[in-house]
Amino acid sequence: MKVLGLIGGMSWENTIEYYRVINQMVNERLGGWNSAKIVLYSVNFEEILPLQNNNEWDKITDIASRICAGLEKAGCSALIICSNTMHKIADQVQTRISIPLINVIDETAKVIRAKNMKNIGLLGTKFTMEEDFYTHKLKHDYNLNPIVPVEKDRKYIHVVIYNQFAKGLFLDKTKQKFLEIIKNLKDRGSEGIILGCTEIPLLIRQEDVNIPLFDTLKIHLKSAVDFCLTNK
Ligand code: GLU
Repeated sequence: MKVLGLIGGMSWENTIEYYRVINQMVNERLGGWNSAKIVLYSVNFEEILPLQNNNEWDKITDIASRICAGLEKAGCSALIICSNTMHKIADQVQTRISIPLINVIDETAKVIRAKNMKNIGLLGTKFTMEEDFYTHKLKHDYNLNPIVPVEKDRKYIHVVIYNQFAKGLFLDKTKQKFLEIIKNLKDRGSEGIILGCTEIPLLIRQEDVNIPLFDTLKIHLKSAVDFCLTNK
């Protein structure tokens, strides 16, 4: 089994889930006492967040590249960044390391394509929903048509990701609002919804809605486990 490097802590709430689910996936595949071989670097989010908000992505790229190089040195065969938003810098980071950085946007888009869907709702931080790095990849590399919530809903989602989910608060009234937003996306033609922020799957589950959900945390990990357990 190959060793996987995880860059977590953005927020640590989702990183617990990444750790739980990857071990569960490996154990389901191999049985016995098998669990994942992992090196986790969990950042202090307080040091990253202001850089995101001030648009200092070059600094974030440097920090992430240094962490990735350390994980490579520690013996990891592949890396994942446990955040959709941080994929804004994934391509640059990849050019600075020699092991693969498994990209959550690519892996999610491949799963959607395999289901023959095209019009796809996208929930995430304002970076993910509004900037090019996510929607451009979906459109141009995978011929998908991403549909994002209206502006006031985008603002709402962005704020609760940081002020509630990243602090471990998953409230019923927030869930009701997300269900409304998902219904709007469905009414606007979405055939499925990307949970494009790694905290959202902690709030909304498939059984809550009658539209297919694409849980980026699970999709990301499934690809990582495939990589670690095969001779690719
Ligand atoms: N975990 C979130 C994501 O998947 C947001 C946290 C961040 O700003 O990195 O996008």
